[in-house]
Amino acid sequence: MNKNKVFLKDMTYSLSSELSYLFYKIKSYFLKNNYTIVDSVDYADYILVCTYWYLSEVEKLTYDYILSLKEKISDKKLYIFWDLWSWKNSLKNIPFITDFVPTYDLTKLDRLFGWKYSINDILSSEIEQDSIFHGDKWVDPNHKYYFLEISAGCIHSCNFCQIKKNIWYVKSRSISQLVKELEYAVKSGYNLIVLLWEDAWSYGLDIWTNFWELLDAFCNVKWDYQINIHYLHPAMALKYKDYIIRYIDKIYKFNMPIQSFSERILKKMNRFYKVDNVINFIKDLKKIKPEIIIDNHIIYAFPGETFEEFLNNIKLSVKYYYRTVFIEYRYIEWTKKFSCDDLLNEDEIKKRKYVLLRMMKKYLEKNWDKWVNKINVLAGEETYKLVLEV
Ligand code: SF4
Repeated sequence: MNKNKVFLKDMTYSLSSELSYLFYKIKSYFLKNNYTIVDSVDYADYILVCTYWYLSEVEKLTYDYILSLKEKISDKKLYIFWDLWSWKNSLKNIPFITDFVPTYDLTKLDRLFGWKYSINDILSSEIEQDSIFHGDKWVDPNHKYYFLEISAGCIHSCNFCQIKKNIWYVKSRSISQLVKELEYAVKSGYNLIVLLWEDAWSYGLDIWTNFWELLDAFCNVKWDYQINIHYLHPAMALKYKDYIIRYIDKIYKFNMPIQSFSERILKKMNRFYKVDNVINFIKDLKKIKPEIIIDNHIIYAFPGETFEEFLNNIKLSVKYYYRTVFIEYRYIEWTKKFSCDDLLNEDEIKKRKYVLLRMMKKYLEKNWDKWVNKINVLAGEETYKLVLEV
């Protein structure tokens, strides 16, 4: 009897729309290769747990979930997906895990199973769009999203980031290939093109081109669509701000994570830009295009961050950014020599999380539709539970 039943467990808690996109891309991949998606582990031949490395809550929940499968595994195969460098060590002694498939090498699926369609053949249009979590879908129901993967990897070296550990090279798709897919997307009715992955400005450096050449190619076509850029490193956004201004009409939104409004902390993070310059750039853009949406990430409880710096991050994020996701700093051993000399204690971290959750609740009570615009700590189900408990 053919083994073709797959149970997919999403343990990313929709931290972001692109993670959600990736989960449904994997689902589409199985469906396209004639596998049946079942809704219980009991009926499955293959169990795939998709998770994310950054949040300790997610790591704990995923770990517990995997252990809970022990009695149900028997002859089933269990695969764990996504960026796991930090905790692969804790999982590698679990004997019933069959293999790991990292985010940066999803083609490992093709090698493992040798199926007809590669994961690279799955287009955004083949994915269940309505299932993908969009933090801004509540305020932006008119856009039809198309996720376009322009490159993987990043040239920067932030001290809190494991992406560099997971994927240390940049791998880009050619401009002609991307314009062709863009044309397909727009002509299929998609009007918001989300450019992925880690760092837009790293695009093209491996193939003798760059992001602004891609922007030139994308913005000089006459098709009616807009762009959402994930992500713009502030130093690069400042260096090439003329390009952003030139194409501002085409840019609907972008995420420019400042990570901290303290230059002292930024230096420890190995991120070098002037906070005032970032703020002035945002102000300038808003003068030119008041409706521009600029999202943000803040790493909170970074080693040595004072409570005043933490509060200032909230204050300035709310003031200048459309929405900010606050991500708790994760201790990673290999960054120790840079940044972990003054790790905050657990009580201090809990205190800061409490403040953030209270703020989320405040927005939630004020206006359900708008709360997500300003402060977000975790996303998805877990957030709601935590917020309501505070
Ligand atoms: S810019 Fe982003 S992806 Fe690149 S090293 Fe920094 S945090 Fe990581």
